Amino acid sequence: MLNSSEFNHNLLAWYQANKRTLPWRQTRDPYLIWLSEVMLQQTQVTTVIPYYEKFITKYPDIDSMAEADEEALLKDWEGLGYYNRIRNFQAAVKEVREHYGSTVPEQPEAFFSLKGVGPYIGGAVQSIAFNHLLAAVDGNVLRVISRLDADDRDMTKASVQKDVKKRIEEIIPLEAGDFNQALMELGATVCTPRAPKCIMCPVQEHCEAYSRNIVSELPVKKKAKRKNELFYNVYFILNDRNEILMRKQEGTLLQGMYELPKYDVDTSVESIEEDLGLTIDTSGLHIGSGKHVFTHQVWFMEGYMLHTRDQHPDFVPLEAVEGLPMSRAMQKIYGQFEVSDERM
Ligand code: SF4
Repeated sequence: MLNSSEFNHNLLAWYQANKRTLPWRQTRDPYLIWLSEVMLQQTQVTTVIPYYEKFITKYPDIDSMAEADEEALLKDWEGLGYYNRIRNFQAAVKEVREHYGSTVPEQPEAFFSLKGVGPYIGGAVQSIAFNHLLAAVDGNVLRVISRLDADDRDMTKASVQKDVKKRIEEIIPLEAGDFNQALMELGATVCTPRAPKCIMCPVQEHCEAYSRNIVSELPVKKKAKRKNELFYNVYFILNDRNEILMRKQEGTLLQGMYELPKYDVDTSVESIEEDLGLTIDTSGLHIGSGKHVFTHQVWFMEGYMLHTRDQHPDFVPLEAVEGLPMSRAMQKIYGQFEVSDERM
């Protein structure tokens, strides 16, 4: 049970001796800590490192981030997914520039009011940058706490996560930032989902699940819902000027990203012509297939090449496509086109 100063001491001492050297741990700059936490939310450390290095070079401070061109920013973020993260981050950074003189607010209420700042980002940044006594509860922390407390409640429930946050804030020491990072580090490197290394765990003597031999039963998570399977035809619509039709997304989670026109597999060519406002003059040559797994959906895509002689404002030169921000799903199917193009 984590209820003692001895627990805190053991955890912090282990963290100081064993923490991984990560680029965002080399800075005290609240903006860079915030940027790293936005990237780390839902993305693994090894994936984040090269993106973080690129971003701190291109957007080293609040002003450069606030002034960045959105399309260039999305292009730089390409591959990290969850594109709302970077759009919200830039919006929040603009607020910081406008209302707080380009200084990340040190008052939790002010910071939590910024766009995209939820309990995790807020707790992580405010504790790591300013040592406010706030918890930062991510998947690693939920797993660690469920085992330490032998808590068999469903850890995916918001009410349980709120309780865990409260629980941590009851014991969080003055070194709040290190404490939060230590819990996350323990979850990432020792108290792992499968085969946790209890034998080398610095807080084993405080662990209820270990003492009751029920580690493998925790955390309890309700069965994940089956992912929705969606089947699309994706169209490479070319004209005589070596241009391809790419649509910029509006009002979706992928806002600002470009995609090839895609339709449910049973959509007729006539409906596509009507939707796009142009006439297709060849039937489709099959280019290839692609599959992409999102958090709640799986896309199965079949790519077809079409030709038109009509004008359309969404045509872009083929050589410009590489510079456009595209989701990973679209990149996969677009890659099929590039392969078939090389073979021709
Ligand atoms: Fe996790 Fe094992 Fe340590 Fe308990 S003893 S916190 S289950 S690694």
